[in-house]
Amino acid sequence: MLYTDFGKTGVTVSRLGFGGMRFEKPQQIDEMAAVVVRAFEKGVTYFDTAPGYCEDKSESICGTAFKEMKKTGRPFYVSTKTSEALPDNIRRQCERSLERLNVDAIDFYHVWCLVKPEDLPWRKKQGALDAFRKLKEEGLIRHISVSTHLEHGYVEAMLDQGDGLFESMLIGLNIQNHHLRYDGVQAASRRGMAVVTMNTLGGGILTRHPERYNNIIRPGDASILETALRFNLSLPEITVALVGFRSCDDVDEAVEVVNRFRPFSEADIAACSEELRRLYREFCTQCGYCGGCPQDIPVVRLMEAYNCGLVEGMEKAIQRLHYHWNASDVSALLAPCTQCRACEDACTQHLPILERFEEMKAAYAQMQASGQGMGAEE
Ligand code: SF4
Ligand code: SF4
Repeated sequence: MLYTDFGKTGVTVSRLGFGGMRFEKPQQIDEMAAVVVRAFEKGVTYFDTAPGYCEDKSESICGTAFKEMKKTGRPFYVSTKTSEALPDNIRRQCERSLERLNVDAIDFYHVWCLVKPEDLPWRKKQGALDAFRKLKEEGLIRHISVSTHLEHGYVEAMLDQGDGLFESMLIGLNIQNHHLRYDGVQAASRRGMAVVTMNTLGGGILTRHPERYNNIIRPGDASILETALRFNLSLPEITVALVGFRSCDDVDEAVEVVNRFRPFSEADIAACSEELRRLYREFCTQCGYCGGCPQDIPVVRLMEAYNCGLVEGMEKAIQRLHYHWNASDVSALLAPCTQCRACEDACTQHLPILERFEEMKAAYAQMQASGQGMGAEE
């Protein structure tokens, strides 16, 4: 296992982190807790969970495992989150997490799910950061962290609004989308913060469709999992890469990859990106050049979701918008579009963005008509 300093916190953690958002059988608490314990036994010391993950069972599964892990006397670190804004609600959710996790204090408590630039200023106004500060003073949390889906320069602007409280940042970055977030990762690193990546395997897309990524696998790597994990762990600003483990087999495979880790050179990283670009010309590269829509339509996010649709079908794109980008009504989201085509004119890939909007609207309407709902996120 690889270990490193966690920013300026004085804590040393494993670079492979346990992502508690993909347990295979969330209702089987003991069976899934064994997956957490397996990772701990193999050297993983950073464990990330949240209320609501895995049918709201993830914290309980982790807490069951932590009870056993504490008996060993060996250190491990617990990360969980709240998207609440009001101080009373934050406290209530923190206390509930502490109880479910079977710990006296949460090591890394996250201001969770900052999706829009206005989210943090609004929560600050409600007293959220003061509430976090107080929880820390009382010893219920040890470090204040932030979790975001913002992109490009919005990440640095958000960090500037954190009153210097944030000691680590959780952000979705992987081999496919690092254009979108790498600036933000560097901004956090310049501030001495630890950086943890979620979506290391593209939300599971990379490993669910390995046949599509054969050409990306670097020489000597056993699988796309190995290339994707090496990619994130080779970026010097990234402290921990989370993998959402479903089972003990997933843990064993990822631990083996980390145990034989060889960093990519900058040239390797550029080659991975170039190969992805060559293979998937129809993919949005998430460069962000179309981001100035006069109607504030989140074109970059819509196209990120469309990327998922290209691999897994348009229903997945709609689910991605719902679960990842907090946008459940695609028609309402696109209603203000005036079809001015400024986004298409700006698109570096010359993508037919408006055509894609229509495809997504049609898929959404079909899902509504069939009454199938959003289904579960994988
Ligand atoms: S075409 Fe629609 S989405 Fe694109 S820039 Fe114009 S208003 Fe925004
Ligand atoms: S400009 Fe084109 S490639 Fe870049 S983010 Fe927008 S849609 Fe994607």
